Amino acid sequence: MNHFEYRGNSLFAEDVSVAEIAATVGTPCYIYSRATLEHHWQVFDEALVSLDHLICYSVKANSNIALLNLLARLGSGFDIVSGGELERVIKAGGDVSKTVFSGVGKTDQEIQFALQTGIHCFNIESAAELTAIDNVASRLDQVAPVSIRVNPDVDAHTHPYISTGLKENKFGVEIEYALPLFQQAAQMAHIKVIGLDCHIGSQLTDMSPFIDALQRLILLIDDLKSNDIEIEHLDVGGGLGITYDNESPPSPAEYVKALLPLLENKKLKLLIEPGRAIVGNAGILATSVTYLKTNAEKHFAIVDSAMNDLLRPALYDAWQNIIPVEKRPEGKLKNYDIVGPVCETADFLGKNRDLNIQQGDLLAVCSAGAYGFVMSSNYNSRPRAAEVMVDGDQMHVIRQRETIADLFKGESLLPDPG
Ligand SMILES: *Cc1c(COP(=O)(O)O)cnc(C)c1O
Repeated sequence: MNHFEYRGNSLFAEDVSVAEIAATVGTPCYIYSRATLEHHWQVFDEALVSLDHLICYSVKANSNIALLNLLARLGSGFDIVSGGELERVIKAGGDVSKTVFSGVGKTDQEIQFALQTGIHCFNIESAAELTAIDNVASRLDQVAPVSIRVNPDVDAHTHPYISTGLKENKFGVEIEYALPLFQQAAQMAHIKVIGLDCHIGSQLTDMSPFIDALQRLILLIDDLKSNDIEIEHLDVGGGLGITYDNESPPSPAEYVKALLPLLENKKLKLLIEPGRAIVGNAGILATSVTYLKTNAEKHFAIVDSAMNDLLRPALYDAWQNIIPVEKRPEGKLKNYDIVGPVCETADFLGKNRDLNIQQGDLLAVCSAGAYGFVMSSNYNSRPRAAEVMVDGDQMHVIRQRETIADLFKGESLLPDPG
C-alpha cells in the first residue's frame, strides 16, 4: 500500500503533485510519503498487539532525522549499526532506551558512547566483541546489556550481497558456538545477557527461512534454559521483502501471524528490526530526462540521477519500476535503458523499459525509500539529492540539495611553495 498514485495523467505523492515538487526543489529529488511510512509501521504494531513487543526500525534503511522523528513519535525503537546512527536517533528525538546496536565492527568509542547514552542492548556478533564490551563497561563501572546474534545457517533465498544468515557470512555467532558464548557472557561482571537475536538477510519474499531460523532459535532458548541462562527478549531481525516488480512477499500482518504460534508460552518479549518493509515503498526518486539518445542497438534516456544517487540497480542488479510523472496522452512507447551521467557502464537505473517520453520529461523511480538516499555518494563530484517529505497537501524539504561548496568541505591545499 502506498500513496503515490496518478490523478488523471499526473503522479501525486499524497495530495501534492510530483511535478510541482520537482519544480520547487529541482531534480534529482527523493520524495517520501508520511502517510505511507506511518501506515507500514502501524501495520506491524497492530499485528503484534497480543504480544509484549518492540519494533526497532532499522535506521540504515533510511536515516533522515525527519523520518526517524516521525517513527519516534509513533513510539518506535531503533536498530542502529554505528555511533553515527545513534547520534541521528538522539537528534531525531528517538528513545535511546528502545535502541539496539547491531554490527560486526563496533569500536571502543562507539561502545562507550552507546553505554553512556543507555541503549537497550548491544547485539553482539563475536567473542572478541563481547570481551571489548566487558572491558569498556568495566572502565566505566557499568553493566552492559547484551543480546547475542546467532547465525542460524539458513538460506534466505535472496541476492548473495544481502544474505546474512549463512555459515560463510561474516554476521553473528555460529549457532553451535552460541551456548558456550552465552555461558562466558554470564560469567562476566560487567555484562548482563538479556536477549538472543538474528537477522538472516534482506528482501526475503518467502516465509520459510524466517520460520526455519525461528525454530532454531527456539531450540537454542530451551538449551539455554536447561543451562540456567534466562533471556528476556528474542529479536528476530528484519528482512521482510517488498514488492518492487512482481514479487509477492507476505504482508507484515501475515509475517507476524506466521511467527506468533512459535512464540506461544515462551514469555519472551519480541523485538523485530524491519527497515525496507517500513520505508521502501514510502519513497520515490524523481528525475528528469536530460537527453534521449539512440545508437544502432539501443535507445537511451539519459537522466539527471545516477548510480551515486541510487546505487541498488548497479550494486544488486535490482529492478525498480520507472514511470512517467506526467503521462503523455499521445505518442508511442519505445524501449529505453534509463542511464545516468556517471562514467561507469554500471550507471543505470533501469534497462529495457517501455516508455513514451521526450527530453525534459520527469520520471519517478518507484520503491526508492529504502537503501536509496542513504547509499548515495558524491562520485563524479555530484552533490547529493534533496529529500522531501509530503504530508497530506504539504511538502517539507527534509534535506536540502548539497551545494558545490559542500563537495570541498574539509579539503585543503598544501602550503604555497617557498
Ligand atoms: C539491515 C538490517 C536490518 C533491516 O533489514 P531490512 O531488510 O531493511 O528489513 C535489520 N537488522 C539488521 C541487523 C540489519 O543489518
